[in-house]
Amino acid sequence: MNQLTVRKDFPLINRLPLVYLDNAATAHKPQAMLDELQRFYADNYGTVHRGLYTLGENATSSYEQARATIAKFINASAEEIIFTKGTTEGINLVAAAWGVVHLKADDEIVLTQAEHHANLLPWQWVAQRTGAKLVLIPLDQKTFLLENPSSFISSRTKLVAVTMNSNVLGPIWQAGDLALLTRRAHEVGARVLLDAAQEVAHQPVDVQALGADFVVFSGHKLFGPTGSGILYATTAAQKMMEPYHRGGSMVYEAWFDRATWQEGPQKFEAGTPLIAEAIGLAASINYLNQAINWRAVHEHETALCRKLIEGLGRMPRVTIVGNPVILKAHGHLVSFVVQGIHAHDIASILSSKGIAVRAGHLCAQPLVRALGHESLVRVSVALYNTLEEIDTFLHELECTIVLFNQLVEQS
Ligand code: PMP
Repeated sequence: MNQLTVRKDFPLINRLPLVYLDNAATAHKPQAMLDELQRFYADNYGTVHRGLYTLGENATSSYEQARATIAKFINASAEEIIFTKGTTEGINLVAAAWGVVHLKADDEIVLTQAEHHANLLPWQWVAQRTGAKLVLIPLDQKTFLLENPSSFISSRTKLVAVTMNSNVLGPIWQAGDLALLTRRAHEVGARVLLDAAQEVAHQPVDVQALGADFVVFSGHKLFGPTGSGILYATTAAQKMMEPYHRGGSMVYEAWFDRATWQEGPQKFEAGTPLIAEAIGLAASINYLNQAINWRAVHEHETALCRKLIEGLGRMPRVTIVGNPVILKAHGHLVSFVVQGIHAHDIASILSSKGIAVRAGHLCAQPLVRALGHESLVRVSVALYNTLEEIDTFLHELECTIVLFNQLVEQS
């Protein structure tokens, strides 16, 4: 994989004089995906699972082909792929369609302290509705890793819902711990949901190897369109789920006073689904399949992270929030604070210099607070970023810190 060749495939990234380092929030789009969306809307537009005419049949076939492409990408079968708007909707879907249906008072839902709000708030809601309790696997404050997560499983555990990779800290699992947690959860009859939002754009996700009941991710972080997302749910798990939304397409038979549902993913895709979004996501995946090599992506992103960590480590008053050793080996993002300068000020000044980074509580406010901060700066890379961009970022950050100090001294 040649970095600069790949970069040319992303028109906005290639065109803008901008150092884009907010890929953990959302990633830019390859031309191949834009072309596919154009083809769908301009040449082949129709709705799915209804029209007995060519455009409708073509749309159905493209939509179902997209399902098959995405299934293959994560080593699932097409019937296990439910299209959603994104990770947030996927988790809310499981919370509403499975959580409130099956959980009861004193059941336990095991999460980590490192969850994004998307994998915390839906479970708070389920707990409030059912009387179930949240159990939080703590993070070691020195290593930023989860300590002995399997010890939090008990006979009361009914669901384990955990992130594979934190959007604040990067990797938080010690080798083998996630597999052990999944095994232990299944031994006590609990279901397992994995939030793969920060995983899929950086390494292959193999749902068979993971063995979870549910895996969720967002298409827009995987170079696909906004409004595209995947909920992988095993057939056994789907059979335990109520419909999430009710309406057209998901019905098998309806009467004035009752209805029965389709089996399989259609049961969870009521109404006119996210057709272009699904087709666009499959186009991005097809692009990745032919243009990149995951081992090269891993090596490239960790080289970017190493440079970031070494550069940040040399700057006085900068503290990396995360485990530098782990991030150098497996990272795609680095969060940090600068003593005496608010994260938002850093992000705004960097923006004025053409550098996009994220600042704030990163939709993980309880975690950031538990780590003793209010706000962090986060730099996150993708396969199209370059070492030169990291140099530019480090240089501009250093200038920002100097500038800020001068302003404070003058005031
Ligand atoms: N989980 C994690 C770990 C995330 O990083 C994000 C996005 N920042 C989400 C969930 C939510 O994703 P979306 O906003 O695409 O639904």
